[in-house]
Amino acid sequence: MTILFPDTKYDPECGAWGLGTVSGYPCNGDVSSLFGATDMDLHAEGHNGTDIAAGQGTPILAPCDMVITDVFSMDVVSTDPLFQQIKDLFGNSVWATIGDDWRVMFAHMSESPRVFEGQSVAAGTTLGYVGSTGQSTGPHLHWTLGPMSNRWLARGAGNVEVLDYCDKQQEVTFTPTGSGVIIEDKRAVALKALQDARAAIDRATAAMY
Ligand SMILES: [Zn+2]
Repeated sequence: MTILFPDTKYDPECGAWGLGTVSGYPCNGDVSSLFGATDMDLHAEGHNGTDIAAGQGTPILAPCDMVITDVFSMDVVSTDPLFQQIKDLFGNSVWATIGDDWRVMFAHMSESPRVFEGQSVAAGTTLGYVGSTGQSTGPHLHWTLGPMSNRWLARGAGNVEVLDYCDKQQEVTFTPTGSGVIIEDKRAVALKALQDARAAIDRATAAMY
C-alpha cells in the first residue's frame, strides 16, 4: 500500500501552501524534534511524532486529503477521563484518517481547531494555528502518523517517521507491535532525515524565486 502526500510548498508572501516541490509539511517552521528522539523527559521512551517549531499563530494546513475523526478543544469540557487525558497531553488537537489505513494527528494548536468531526478536508485546508496548549514548552506543531489500528497514535504501536514518509514519498510498511513496545532510539537516522528535510526546504525556497 502506498499513500503519497501531495507536493506542496509554503509561500511566505501569501501565507499559504501551493503546489510545489516539497511534500507534505503542514506548517512553515523548523524541525525541532524528530521521531524516535529521546531528547526530553516526555520523550524518554522515544518521541512518537515530529515537532516543527513555528511562531504562535502560524497556519497548520492539511498535508493531504483526509477525513477528520476527532477534534479536541480546550474550550470544551470533557466528562470522559480518556478524552480529558488526551486534551491534557495534546491540547487543542485534530485526529484524521488518510484513506483506509492511516491516521494522522496535529497537536498543541493555539485555539480551537477550525475543522469538525466527520468533515472531509482537501489538502491545503486550514486545520488550526500553531500554539503551545497541552504538554508543550513552546509554540510548535507535533504531528504523528500511524496505522488505523492505533486510534490515539500511542508510541510503540506502528507509528512511522512522518518526515521520512513525506520527503521520500516512499511506500511505508509496518507491523503493528501492540502497546508497551518501546521504539528504539533512531537518533542517527533521525538526524540524517533532518538534514535531508532541511535540504529539501532550501531547494524549495530557492525554487520560489
Ligand atoms: Zn512532539
